[in-house]
Amino acid sequence: MTGAGDGTYLQTSRYNFCLPLASGFLLYNARTGASLRYASDAPREFLDALCRYPARVAAEDIAERTRDRLQRGGFLVETGFDELLEIRGQYLHAKIEAPVIVTITTTNDCNLGCFYCFQKRDASQLQNGRIDQIVDHIRAIFAQSHKRTLHVDWYGGEPMLNRDFLEKASVAIQDACHELDVSYSASILTNGTLWPEDALSFVKTHHIERLQITFDGMSRSHNKTRRHRTVSRENVNQFDAACALVDQLAPHISVDIRFNLSRQNAEEATEFAELGLARGWFAPENKAQLQLAKLTPYSTEVDFLRKVEFTFAEFEEVRNRVRPHVPDGKLDKSASLDSYPSPRESVCAAIAEDSIVIGADGNLYSCGLQVTEPHRNVGQLGRAHTESALHELQFWDGFDPTRAPSCSRCSFLPLCWGSCPKLHMECDTAQLEQQSEFWRVMLPRRLAASLDLSLVPGFALTAVDQFRG
Ligand code: SF4
Ligand code: SF4
Repeated sequence: MTGAGDGTYLQTSRYNFCLPLASGFLLYNARTGASLRYASDAPREFLDALCRYPARVAAEDIAERTRDRLQRGGFLVETGFDELLEIRGQYLHAKIEAPVIVTITTTNDCNLGCFYCFQKRDASQLQNGRIDQIVDHIRAIFAQSHKRTLHVDWYGGEPMLNRDFLEKASVAIQDACHELDVSYSASILTNGTLWPEDALSFVKTHHIERLQITFDGMSRSHNKTRRHRTVSRENVNQFDAACALVDQLAPHISVDIRFNLSRQNAEEATEFAELGLARGWFAPENKAQLQLAKLTPYSTEVDFLRKVEFTFAEFEEVRNRVRPHVPDGKLDKSASLDSYPSPRESVCAAIAEDSIVIGADGNLYSCGLQVTEPHRNVGQLGRAHTESALHELQFWDGFDPTRAPSCSRCSFLPLCWGSCPKLHMECDTAQLEQQSEFWRVMLPRRLAASLDLSLVPGFALTAVDQFRG
C-alpha cells in the first residue's frame, strides 16, 4: 500500500489473515481475535494488501467507517505501535498471574505397561518422610506470592500405587492451607485400576475435584494396549475397572474421559462414545466430558508411534464422526474445529511462575514430562540449588516465545505462544514444524467451522503467510 498526500499513516498488522470462502472472504487478526466478513465483490487487492507486512497505508485513502472497523479489530494499527511488545506483555502477565499448581509424582512406577508410554518407569516413590519438606516448600511459595489458591495434581506413574503417601500428604497439605488461609483443590491422573471400593469418599476426603482417566479403545484394544506388569491383579479386567470408576464418580466430580486416538483404534471411538452414553456418563447433570486426544510421540524414544499417528486433518475427520454420538457440551472443545480460535491467555504449568512439579525422586521439576529425567531437575526438596539445577531453571525462567527466532516472526504467535517450551528446550524441530503445519491447515478450518462458513475446499495457509517481513 502506498500513501497519498501528507496525511497520517497506519501500519498493517503482522497477524492479519485473509481466507477465501465459498462466497466472499474472511479477514482475521490473530492478536485481537477479531474477524470481518467480506462479500465476494470486496476489493481482493485491498484485503491482500492488509496481509502484507510490513506495510503502511495513508489513513485518508480508506473510508472513515472502514478504517474505524479495521483499527478496532487491530487489522490496522498506529505507526510505531509494537505488536510484539504487546504480546510479550500479555505472555508475561499470564506467566505471573497463573494459578499455583503443585504436581506431586507419588511414584514413577505403574502397574500397567502401555506400549506408547514415554515415561521411563522405575521404583522411585515419595516416602512419608518427605511430607514435611513438601509442606515447607508449599509454605515458601505462599510466603512470596499474593495468590491464595493451591491446586495439587496427583501424578505418576500411577499415583494410586503409592496411596498411603498420597493420603497422608493430602491431609498435611490441606492442614497447612487451612492455616495459611489458602483454598485447596486437587485433581488426579489415573488409570483407574487401583481405587478403593468407595471412590466417592476418597475424592471427598482429598478434595479431588477433577479426574482424568485414559482409554485406548473398547475393552479388546484397551486391555491389549495396557498390559498388567504386576502379577497380583492380572485377573482384573482393567477396562471394566476404569469404566466402573467413571460410573461412580461422573455424577459428582469433573471426569475427563480421555480417548487416545490412533489409526489402530479409530473405529472404536464411536462405539466408546455410545458406551459412555448408555452408562449415563454424559447425562446433563454430570460433569464428565469425552476428550478425544491424538496419540502423539511426546519423546523421541516413542518415535515409532508416528506410524499410527493421525495427521491433524485426519484426526478432525474422526472427531466429526464421533460428534453426533455425544450430547452437546460433552465433547471437549478445546482443540476442536468448532471452537473459535482466540488469542492464547494462559501458559502451561512449566512456565507458570509459582508452579512446580515434585518428582518421585524428591527432585523438583518444571515440566511434568521430565520427572524421570533427573538431570532436568530445577532443585531438590529441602536443599539449596545445585549449579546444574540453576542452569535448567534459567531455561524455564527465560523462555519467551516473543524472543525466539522463529516464533517472534510467526503470524500464529498470539494463538500459539511457541507451543510447548520443552520442544524448544530439546530443539525438537520435527514437532515444532508440526505446530506450524497445524496452524496453517487448522486455523482456516477452525475459523470457517466455528463461524459456520464454507472455506474454499483444500485451502491452507503457507509458510509465506506465516513468516512475513
Ligand atoms: S507455530 Fe511454530 S513458529 Fe509459530 S509460534 Fe507456534 S511454535 Fe512458534
Ligand atoms: S513444557 Fe510442554 S510438556 Fe511440559 S508442561 Fe509445558 S506444554 Fe506440557
